[in-house]
Amino acid sequence: MDKTFKLLINGRQVEGATSFDVLNPASEEVVAACPKADRAQLDQAIAAAKAAFPAWSARSYEDRAAYVLRLADALMERKDEFARLLTAEQGKPLHQAEYEIIGSTFVLRAFAEMRAPEKIMRQDGGNTVIEHRTPLGVVAAITPWNFPVILLMNKLGPCLVTGNCMVAKPAPTTPLTTLLFAELAAEILPAGVFNVICDQNELGGALTSHPDIAKIAFTGSTGTGSKVMASAADGIKRVTLELGGNDAAIVMGDVPPDVAAAKVFQGAMMNAGQICVAIKRAYVHESIYEEFCASIAKLAEAAVVDDGSKQGVTIGPVQNRMQYEKVKGLLEDAVAQGRVLAGGQLPDRPGYFIPPTIIADLPDDAPLVREEQFGPVLPVLKFSEVDDVVARANDSEYGLAGTVWSRDTQAAMDIARRVDAGTVWVNQHLAIDATLPFRGSKKSGLGAELGQAGLHEYTQAHIINAVELALD
Ligand code: NAD
Repeated sequence: MDKTFKLLINGRQVEGATSFDVLNPASEEVVAACPKADRAQLDQAIAAAKAAFPAWSARSYEDRAAYVLRLADALMERKDEFARLLTAEQGKPLHQAEYEIIGSTFVLRAFAEMRAPEKIMRQDGGNTVIEHRTPLGVVAAITPWNFPVILLMNKLGPCLVTGNCMVAKPAPTTPLTTLLFAELAAEILPAGVFNVICDQNELGGALTSHPDIAKIAFTGSTGTGSKVMASAADGIKRVTLELGGNDAAIVMGDVPPDVAAAKVFQGAMMNAGQICVAIKRAYVHESIYEEFCASIAKLAEAAVVDDGSKQGVTIGPVQNRMQYEKVKGLLEDAVAQGRVLAGGQLPDRPGYFIPPTIIADLPDDAPLVREEQFGPVLPVLKFSEVDDVVARANDSEYGLAGTVWSRDTQAAMDIARRVDAGTVWVNQHLAIDATLPFRGSKKSGLGAELGQAGLHEYTQAHIINAVELALD
């Protein structure tokens, strides 16, 4: 690619101190060079955001929301360019990349509508209590490589609308779409309000521990999330952590097995299984277990696994070499322990391709069942009793999301109430909506992203408690 990508610091697009190559996971060929910031550029970006904060936070909500809408419009205008670049650096099929870009504009538009108005808590005789919310200052946004665009917009929308400024740092293997967004933001936003720096995992600690960072909005693995939290501790910084998951699907015996297989396959394999809320364990009632296994195996065999830029591809490569090696290890262990229904063999070709693999009958303590695979390899497990399956679903350090599938919606909702997770979907999957809060329980996260609760995380609530002056 001929295009040159630049960092965004104080409204100016600048070269990095050095650079590194970003690879296409389908070919392992270079997509483009990414500018790499040094410590001085990180400090400049934070200083620029800090300097921009007083004027930006003094603007009205309406004014700031208008900027956010302009960002959404500009992103939509260049949707095809963004989608192609996203497929090239991330690997997902082009139609899924388009979906991510369009979804990103929806997120920005939803936040442009949201407000955090003053709330009257009490008005009682002479006593008035109000809750009033103010922005925090400079937000560090740190994003992973599975949805590099929309996960940034989940943070940028509420950050800007509430009057904060941002320094964003994308993942080293998918920085290019963030830099392309920086290019359009440079034309729209006042200098310093939004800054982008890139690294190869060296600057995260310096960013999160910097005294001028007021809040860290982080999406990534639980291991890194824990480091972010530790790094924020000294400054008692606000953190929102959206971390890993090992989401269970519970399929009741009243669901037609072919219908259940189609829903679970889609929920497990979209984005090559690299979704925090992908179905990562499927528990299927014994009465339909074998038929479900046969149906889901057929779907896996029919999947078209190839370079996501080609027409008709349904599953692209895993995003990077490290993740490929991790999924490969889990797959090899599962193949040795379980019954392979589909996939299981790695192709001999360039790129990080793993065919959709379905493994039945693994023990509950198999690594593929207990760990977050974050790849297109799904364990299918049998259950007979609801109490047992709920206990098994909850027997995890994670609690991000889950699904329950049944023709009896009320019974499914009762099961959903017992699943310890931030979100449980009934008879649907991935119904993430920018107006609804999304959060993880246990080691899946802290705080909410999206929705009014997500907006509030970018503000400090002040309680103002007033009475008439007593003159006696
Ligand atoms: P990761 O934790 O390796 O990296 C995430 C980001 O953190 C990257 O930008 C990385 O450069 C940065 N980073 C690395 N070290 C850092 C440090 N010491 N301090 C600060 N930042 C640092 O995660 P990943 O492998 O890119 O993403 C996959 C993980 O993200 C999976 O576990 C997945 O479940 C999770 N995820 C969660 C959600 C959610 O909303 N809960 C969404 C998507 C992905």
